Amino acid sequence: MDVYEESLRIHELHRGKLEVRSLLRVDSPRNLSLAYTPGVARPCEVIGEDVSKAWSLTMKGRTVAVVSDGSAILGLGDLGPEAALPVMEGKAVLFKEFGGIDAFPIVLDARDPDAIVETVKRIAPTFGGINLEDISAPRCFEIEDRLQDIGIPVLHDDQHGTAIVCLAAVQNALRVVGKALVGSRVVISGAGAAGRAIARLLSCADGGDRCIPVGEVLVCDSRGIIGPHRDDLDPVKAQLLEHTNRRHLRGTLKDAMQGADVFIGVSRSRLIDRRDVASMAKDAIVLAMANPEPEILPDEALAGGAAVVGTGRSDFPNQVNNVLAFPGLFRGALEVGATRFTPGMKFAAIDAIAGCVVEPGPKRILPPAFDRSVAFVVGDAVARAAHADGVARIPLKD
Ligand code: NAP
Ligand code: MG
Repeated sequence: MDVYEESLRIHELHRGKLEVRSLLRVDSPRNLSLAYTPGVARPCEVIGEDVSKAWSLTMKGRTVAVVSDGSAILGLGDLGPEAALPVMEGKAVLFKEFGGIDAFPIVLDARDPDAIVETVKRIAPTFGGINLEDISAPRCFEIEDRLQDIGIPVLHDDQHGTAIVCLAAVQNALRVVGKALVGSRVVISGAGAAGRAIARLLSCADGGDRCIPVGEVLVCDSRGIIGPHRDDLDPVKAQLLEHTNRRHLRGTLKDAMQGADVFIGVSRSRLIDRRDVASMAKDAIVLAMANPEPEILPDEALAGGAAVVGTGRSDFPNQVNNVLAFPGLFRGALEVGATRFTPGMKFAAIDAIAGCVVEPGPKRILPPAFDRSVAFVVGDAVARAAHADGVARIPLKD
């Protein structure tokens, strides 16, 4: 049976993938009065007097919401909120399995950014963090921006989870070929959720002390290189011009690739071929991450002379998978009760993921997606960065 039919069967068998489990047994009047009334009144009063106690007396401090409106489900597009539930349940499974974090799938019957922002603000008291998921661009940018000051960390994983793992991959791939980011030319195919976040992190538009000094970043969308010559740019794409394409180049994606050191694909399947890779600089790095089919298949990229090739897929070497980032990001943030994610926390995650590979090689630029130690290493680094950046509520554990 193929993986799609088998998955459908399993979802039907269990009626989904998640359940809520009690930590207390309620098998006597005494236990009932501890878990619920009258005993529960005491923790309520304590929290009523000091809201911060919710972090230690309830599930809040170890729980995140995985929130979607179903408008950009995987590569499937807009299928509506109910159709997003299998993905959000799956995300919750990964949070638990890899990060030890309890996550609730929450799908919203709302499309208007005002309504989504308002809803997330109102459910925030339950949670220690919010993972926005599969919300279409460009609304996802505004929604995430407007939720940054709600007192708990809010992160759109399709943007930042992707960007963090991708940059960890770039960092190690550059080590393999003996190049540095300083002076390197990077081409990003795709200016959606993932492409914009990668461009921002690469070009330091996210601020923060540590800036990644890239020689040049060119971003392309379906109409070619994004530059000041374009009169069709939405505000988000126009903003990219502040940090990318400093030489005001025009042309197609294929033009952009000539002489580039790194190609990052977060766009659509089968857009480029071996001749495009051959036109890149010597020892080119190709991360073709479109799902389910990459911008170019690894064999084709290698035939074009690429030195390191990665994709989003588990059946090829160098899988760029968000699961290397989001469990650890939220684990670290929850551990210290962070009020937000800072650029420093993201850079700490990049370094931690890259550092999990002791000796990077052409087929080993990232740890395997199944490596359970990664979330803990990333979590520690993120928690320390939260403290350094002054956004932690809870002291660091030893
Ligand atoms: P998105 O927000 O829909 O953005 C897609 C972008 O691709 C848009 O900017 C679109 O251009 C551009 N595009 C479409 N056709 C193109 C072409 N012929 N040449 C250049 N650009 C083209 O989607 P997203 O969330 O950023 O994800 C993009 C892709 O990356 C998806 O396939 C997704 O599955 C994959 N992805 C993989 C990973 C991973 O493996 N870890 C993580 C995240 C995303 P316009 O703006 O002109 O429409
Ligand atoms: Mg997603």
